[in-house]
Amino acid sequence: MEIQVLPLSEADKKPKFTDETNLVFGRTFTDRMLLIEWKAGTGWGDARIKKYEPFVLEPAALVFHYAQEIFEGLKAYRWEDGSIALFRPEMNARRFNHSADRLCMPEMPEELFLKGIEQLVSLERDWVPGAVGTSLYIRPAMIAVEPVVGVKPSDHYYFFVILSPVGAYYPKGFKPVRIMVEDEYVRAAPGGTGEAKTGGNYASSLKAGLKAKKKGFDQVLWLDGVEKRYVEEVGAMNMFFAYGNKVVTAPIGGTILNGVTRDSVLQLSRSLGFEVEERKIDIHDLMRDIESGKVTEAFGSGTAAVITPVGELCYKDDCLEIGGGGVGALTQKLYDTLTGIQWGKVADTFGWIKKIS
Ligand SMILES: *Cc1c(COP(=O)(O)O)cnc(C)c1O
Repeated sequence: MEIQVLPLSEADKKPKFTDETNLVFGRTFTDRMLLIEWKAGTGWGDARIKKYEPFVLEPAALVFHYAQEIFEGLKAYRWEDGSIALFRPEMNARRFNHSADRLCMPEMPEELFLKGIEQLVSLERDWVPGAVGTSLYIRPAMIAVEPVVGVKPSDHYYFFVILSPVGAYYPKGFKPVRIMVEDEYVRAAPGGTGEAKTGGNYASSLKAGLKAKKKGFDQVLWLDGVEKRYVEEVGAMNMFFAYGNKVVTAPIGGTILNGVTRDSVLQLSRSLGFEVEERKIDIHDLMRDIESGKVTEAFGSGTAAVITPVGELCYKDDCLEIGGGGVGALTQKLYDTLTGIQWGKVADTFGWIKKIS
């Protein structure tokens, strides 16, 4: 499918950032967006790259009422030689379709998903910042736009991609976060939508997030939705615990997000000689193992921050420091290696990098 590039007038061009080191995550958007429509009967069509501007949608559009929506998140990185790289974008394409299937939305051909993003980023290449730690965040999404009040899969969808230049996540170096284990609300249950990247999951997580913020925590660690006993994941990060030479994380099984960074951490840990275990983690065992010092490091993984060290975990009235509250050697090594590969400073022996022409 050809993607039409609509002209951009001089007036449509926004002023570029002046301070690359001061970009706030998700607040600035580039001049253009990608829009592709799906209609029952004809399928995907009308692919165009156009000016970033508001949608005109009917108030009855299905997405506003029944939340038929999915999204993705990945980044483009500017290398020292000026070239631009994506990190494992085919995994986002695959996961997008996994989410689409769960929400009864049409499958987006992987080639079109990738080609659309590459073409858009290439056109907007001047918006990819180059300062250390900065990147261009890419947000693909799909929404149901058929105007009908009635629960059913839509017969009309918008697939769109917007771009946002973002500053360094850790401008002053790593800062370990404090995490509260949520023992009242749940994020996902077996058979639910936990494994899909769909807006509703995040709307229903806000309450717990606010509760944690009020108590002075950075994030919430979710437990399973049935027994509230097994560790699942954090906000938009998968969770890892190091037991000396062993790295442990919860298994993918329907209720947690299958993170691209998670998969990369598992592969990288193995290649660094660590033993890797994907298994259920009982919160009581975990707290005991933190207390006894068996858990040497804890960290989260996700596209936004790549690796986030966890310095403290609180469950009910029990607050425990992990690894002395600092940044462990493995956490640092994984962060340095992953970001090194993303910015072209470390050889990509896994074939994870896709250059944009
Ligand atoms: C996006 C997301 C992650 C991280 O996935 P990455 O592909 O590593 O960015 C983890 N958990 C949730 C709930 C997410 O939405």
